[in-house]
Amino acid sequence: EIDVPESHPRYQSLLTRHRIEDGVDRGITTRQGLIAEGRGEAFDYLLGERTISSSDDAARVAAALLLLAERPAISVNGNVAALVPAETVDLAAAVNADVEVNLFNRTDDRMRSIVAHLREHGTDEAGVAVRGLDADARIPGLDHERATVDADGIGNADVVVVPLEDGDRAAALAAMGKAEVVIDLNPLSRSAQAATVPIIDNVVRAVPNITGHARDLSGASRAELEATVRGFDADGALGAAEDAIRSGELG
Ligand code: ATP
Ligand code: MG
Repeated sequence: EIDVPESHPRYQSLLTRHRIEDGVDRGITTRQGLIAEGRGEAFDYLLGERTISSSDDAARVAAALLLLAERPAISVNGNVAALVPAETVDLAAAVNADVEVNLFNRTDDRMRSIVAHLREHGTDEAGVAVRGLDADARIPGLDHERATVDADGIGNADVVVVPLEDGDRAAALAAMGKAEVVIDLNPLSRSAQAATVPIIDNVVRAVPNITGHARDLSGASRAELEATVRGFDADGALGAAEDAIRSGELG
């Protein structure tokens, strides 16, 4: 469907961009989502379009946190649905999380399209609950649209994964006392700074990476998982990503 030679130096990046364009055509992703993708691409370019080691460590901590969680939830917006639908379902299945569609610009049509898109990527077969349509709870401190969540999903979750979340919402979720895993390519973004575990990486690499770590840690004891989480330094991880960008060693 897309004609990019694999030898092209920006092959992965062009594929990712195409998936976002396709998401817009299908009514899953918004035009604002295209702009967010552009901002992400710029940071990914500066990171060398690779998973730096501090972000791999953060992904492992995120996996441990999710395995320890009682009610984990993964938030899905239009960009996440376009870029990593199957990978998100895999992660949810690996850590027993619900997925919840949660949109910056919430419309019924888009909510339904994304729920259907996730179902097409195997949520039922994987035993993963898809939430977001109940809209029966609110996040305190946000305006109506942005505050809406499902009580049985993000509303009562103890650990939330929020890829590409807007900064205000990430801060409001943290203020509710939830442990938050944020995946964002910009280490300076307010979202990343509000996170319990910031993963400075592209969502297309980070989501399957967390799943891999979760599978790897599936036999670990609670004590081992807790030690993994306790040893994590969020500010250190943000600083390491900023250093990687400033050092300018493109991968
Ligand atoms: P702030 O967090 O400071 O409030 P924002 O969230 O309002 O900023 P947006 O313009 O919504 O800023 O930016 C979207 C964010 O998503 C950017 O930080 C960008 O780096 C990140 N992003 C975009 N695409 C990806 C991707 N594929 N993987 C990871 N992060 C991405
Ligand atoms: Mg942000």
